[in-house]
Amino acid sequence: MLEVLQSGWITTGERTARFEEALREYVGTRHAVAVNSATAALHLALEALGVGPGDEVVVPTYTFAACGEVVVYLGARPVLADVDPATFNVTRETAEDALTPRTRAILVVHFAGLPAEVMPLLELGAERGIPIVEDAAHALPASRAGRAAGTWGRAGAYSFYATKTVTTGEGGMLVTDEDAIADRARLMRLHGLSRDAWSRYTTAGNWAYEIEEAGFKYNMTDLAAALGLVQLGRAEEMRRARERIAATYQAAFTADPLAGLVEAPPWPPRGTVHAWHLYPLRLHGDRMRAGRDAVVAELRARGIGTSVHFIPLHLHPYYRRTFGYMPDDLPIARREYEREISLPIYPDLSAPDLMRVIEAVGEVVTGLA
Ligand SMILES: *Cc1c(COP(=O)(O)O)cnc(C)c1O
Repeated sequence: MLEVLQSGWITTGERTARFEEALREYVGTRHAVAVNSATAALHLALEALGVGPGDEVVVPTYTFAACGEVVVYLGARPVLADVDPATFNVTRETAEDALTPRTRAILVVHFAGLPAEVMPLLELGAERGIPIVEDAAHALPASRAGRAAGTWGRAGAYSFYATKTVTTGEGGMLVTDEDAIADRARLMRLHGLSRDAWSRYTTAGNWAYEIEEAGFKYNMTDLAAALGLVQLGRAEEMRRARERIAATYQAAFTADPLAGLVEAPPWPPRGTVHAWHLYPLRLHGDRMRAGRDAVVAELRARGIGTSVHFIPLHLHPYYRRTFGYMPDDLPIARREYEREISLPIYPDLSAPDLMRVIEAVGEVVTGLA
């Protein structure tokens, strides 16, 4: 970052190009287009696929706000799908329930960093002529049979938000094998201009540009890209550290006395690499005197911060008001959300702190049983 500052060129330029190249190589796609958020990448991907007014996009309800709102940006309608109760991921069956003749894309989220069962979804997409777009905001690095999550569909989006596995403070990347999607996203990420500032003001450049489309302001800065290059180099080492934490949790939560009171998340099958962005534990509230919210409060009182991922989209006021969703319309997501608690998982979590979390969860949960 100091080198970028000293160079005098702090916005989109040579570092951003290097970060795109590094990420493209890392995940194995033809193109990587750097932007300032995964939200921007998802928006650009759907825009490039031609989603517009009157269209529908299938979005799993068990996800972050971004997934639904990018569909609304384009004047289209997000049609929410339920998820698999074990993985929280959308499946062929739950996506199929949400299809209509107006469906123009299916968004697949790799929840917590565990790759979704994409093959049946890709088959569904191929049968119906519907593109699959991947939200891989949790899934860098994650893979199945050696292929990176985010690279199976027509386009994929990674997030470099502050809490994500690889961060640039704020940032995102769209990846695709298709020249047309990449070209369109490059045009639209910077005001629809025929040439960005880097290509206008370097010695080989030319001051002139044309506005080809009414685009967006989604470009990544070279300051962010400098962070991203270093972070990407550490991505696997940081993933291994999270995997060790997950394995320690797993051993504690699948053994007595906790095994009957909590449900550990699914461990990935052989050949699947889990990014472990989140560690989503579930509580057997029916076997306890109080539910998830009480556990969150008691852990907080002991100085342990947790979170909940996610409040399903269909439970939020905007979706209820605008599209008429009712809480039980997507019952699996609702039920799993009500008993989910995300435990601390990050590369610098020390072994003593990890033990403290496990002990505290044990005490709180058995205390309520
Ligand atoms: C964080 C997140 C996003 C949005 O990422 P930004 O880079 O903050 O725009 C999208 N989808 C999911 C599932 C996320 O967790």
